Amino acid sequence: MTTPLSAAPLFARLALIGVGLIGSSIARAARAQKLVGSIVATARSAKTRRRVMELGLADQVVDTNAAAVEGADLVIVCIPVGQCGAAAQEIGEHLAPGAIVSDVGSVKVQVVRDMAPHLPANVHFIPAHPVAGTEYSGPDAGFAELFVGRWCIITPPDSADAIAVERLSAFWSGLGAKVATMSADHHDLVLAITSHVPHLIAYTIVGTADDLSAVTRSEVLQYSAGGFRDFTRIAASDPTMWRDVFLANKTGVLEMLGRFNRDLAKLAHAIEAADGDTLFELFTRTRAIRRGIVAIGQDSAAPDFGRPRPSLAPAPLPRPYALEE
Ligand code: NAP
Repeated sequence: MTTPLSAAPLFARLALIGVGLIGSSIARAARAQKLVGSIVATARSAKTRRRVMELGLADQVVDTNAAAVEGADLVIVCIPVGQCGAAAQEIGEHLAPGAIVSDVGSVKVQVVRDMAPHLPANVHFIPAHPVAGTEYSGPDAGFAELFVGRWCIITPPDSADAIAVERLSAFWSGLGAKVATMSADHHDLVLAITSHVPHLIAYTIVGTADDLSAVTRSEVLQYSAGGFRDFTRIAASDPTMWRDVFLANKTGVLEMLGRFNRDLAKLAHAIEAADGDTLFELFTRTRAIRRGIVAIGQDSAAPDFGRPRPSLAPAPLPRPYALEE
C-alpha cells in the first residue's frame, strides 16, 4: 500500500469539496500515503473551514467551491448527494482542462444526472463510492485507515477515458481500498439492499420502539443489548446524508423494499402458523451469509462485533451475606 519514497505523487493538487467524515479521511490518508502534492479544501460553513485549518487537514483552505478547484488535477466532491448538482454548477467553469472530477456519493444515477450537465467536455467525470463509513460526521470524525480493506466502487460512464479511470483507481488503491467497477444503475440496486434498506429498517425499528407507549423509554435504553443496540448505531447516522440517499435512490430502494415487505409478510405468516421449519431454514441460511462476510474479511469474527468485554468487578454481596466490617 505504501508508495516508494522517490515516486512522484499520483496527483499534483487534490481539491476536496466538503471535509466531513469522508473528505477528511481522504485528506488524512492521501497525505499519509503521499498520493498528492498538495491539498486544497473547502466546506459550506466558516466553522467547518476553520476546523479543517485547525486540524491541519489541507495545505490551503478556501471559501468557495469555485476557488478550491482552480489548478487542481483531481477534484473530489464529498458532500451530501442532494448538493452535488449545485456544487458542479459552481465549479464547472473553474476546472482545469484534463482534471479528473469525482465524488463519493452513496447514490450514483442521480449524482451523475445532476453533475454531468455542468461539467465541461475537457474534464474526466468519473463517479465513485467508497463503501466505508461510520455513524459519525464532520472533519473530526475521519481517520486515515477508514478505507483500508473496504471496497471503492467506481462507476465510469461508457465514454470514460481509460487512463483517467486507471489513475482514479490507483488513487483509491493507494488509500487502501479494493476497487470494483460497475454501472451506476447496478451500483444503486446493489447498495439499495446492502446499505440503504438496512438503514431504513434501523430507522424504523428505533422509531417504532421510541413510539411504544407500553414500553417506557428507559426500558428501551436499559435492555437495548438484545439486538436493538446494533440497530441504534445505524440509526444514529447523519440525517441530512440519509434523507438525501433515500430521495436520490427512490427506484432502487422501493424495489428492494417491496421484496423485503413480501419476505417479512411470509415470516409473519410462518410465525402465525407455528411453521418452525420455515423459520429454522431461513435462520440457517442467514447465519451462513454472516459467516461468508467474515470469511472474506469484511467483518471481524470476534463475538459481538469485537466489543470489549467489561471486567468482572466484585459485585456487592446481598445484605444477609455481606461480611461485617
Ligand atoms: P459529513 O461528515 O456530514 O460532511 C459533509 C461535508 O460537506 C461537510 O464538510 C459540509 O460542510 C460539506 N458541504 C455540505 N454541502 C456543501 C456544499 N454545498 N458545498 C461545499 N461543502 C458542502 O458527510 P460525509 O459522511 O463525509 O458524507 C459525504 C458524502 O459521502 C455523502 O454524499 C455520502 O453519501 C457519502 N458517503 C458517506 C458515507 C458515510 O458512512 N458517512 C460512506 C460512503 C459515502 P459543513 O460542515 O460546513 O456543512
